[in-house]
Amino acid sequence: MTTPRYHGVEAHVGRTPLIRLRRLSELTRCEILGKAEWMNPGGSVKDRAALGIIADAEASGRLRPGSTIIEGTAGNTGIGLTILGHAKGYPVVIVIPENQSPEKITLLRTLGAEVRTVPEAPYKNPANYNRVAQRLAEENGWFWANQFDNTANRQAHHRTTGPEIWEQTQGEVTAFVAAVGTGGTLAGTTAYLKERNPRIHAVCADPYGAAMWSWFTRGNLDTNDGDSYAEGIGQMRVTKNLEGLTVDQAYRIEDQLALSIVYQLLREEGLFLGLSSGINLGGALRLALERGPGQTIVTILCDSGHKYQSKLFNPDWLAAHGLDPSRTIESVLD
Ligand code: PMP
Repeated sequence: MTTPRYHGVEAHVGRTPLIRLRRLSELTRCEILGKAEWMNPGGSVKDRAALGIIADAEASGRLRPGSTIIEGTAGNTGIGLTILGHAKGYPVVIVIPENQSPEKITLLRTLGAEVRTVPEAPYKNPANYNRVAQRLAEENGWFWANQFDNTANRQAHHRTTGPEIWEQTQGEVTAFVAAVGTGGTLAGTTAYLKERNPRIHAVCADPYGAAMWSWFTRGNLDTNDGDSYAEGIGQMRVTKNLEGLTVDQAYRIEDQLALSIVYQLLREEGLFLGLSSGINLGGALRLALERGPGQTIVTILCDSGHKYQSKLFNPDWLAAHGLDPSRTIESVLD
């Protein structure tokens, strides 16, 4: 049989463009570059992890034809697992806390996932949505994707995101910056880039209200004060995907800086992004200013602004939450 020339959507995850962010680059006299992850089929960086987790489970025999995939997730991983699971013939069940926005629940149902809502409960409590997903998997013989502690997640970034960045910059990359949700993107990409060149700087950009800055700079999870409206990031524990990872630098990024960057890109560069992309770019900007001109800094443009229209791009919501889209990047930095 000849190798097929054309492929379905599952073959078109990754290989995203690397986009020059003009204003940030000019401001710092660095090259600040973003991987356009919203261009993935499910619209986010999480398609890479979803596909990697599915492929790994197929290879190990944990996922067989007709099996069901289950995951506890409120966001992009659920979207990625649903579209890629369906493209490969697996039904998908998503368990999500009932306090999540109705748009997300409706979206997952529209995509064809079976969505089960559960009351909000902390991780320690067996009623927590992730623990429910694990229990349902055990009871029904389903495959639990377990994105936080399944290291097929970070391996997907080691296999794809890292090599793409290395090739797209022809080895010129000097730093990689990412925020942490599961930690798969930061850990997997960093591991690959450091194998190619150990001098590449690995940088965590952490939102307020998370503990990763404290973890990377002090070795404890104590500092997690403040708050952030960025969705999909903001980790309080060392997941299996983060185990063994050290970074060269970590920054705490204020939502206002991330928002000012997101709005500047929208108004002047034709890019419509979510707030976690702004947090990543805030980290890239701080690194560029701290280490000076001449660096080639790569980060992740995780998803597009569409899902956040009623919040980040709604003037009433912004005003009610003390965020000002008219503030310039320079004024926030001062
Ligand atoms: N940004 C967004 C919008 C996300 O949904 C996620 C994943 N939860 C991340 C960033 C962080 O990616 P990772 O899980 O690989 O740390």
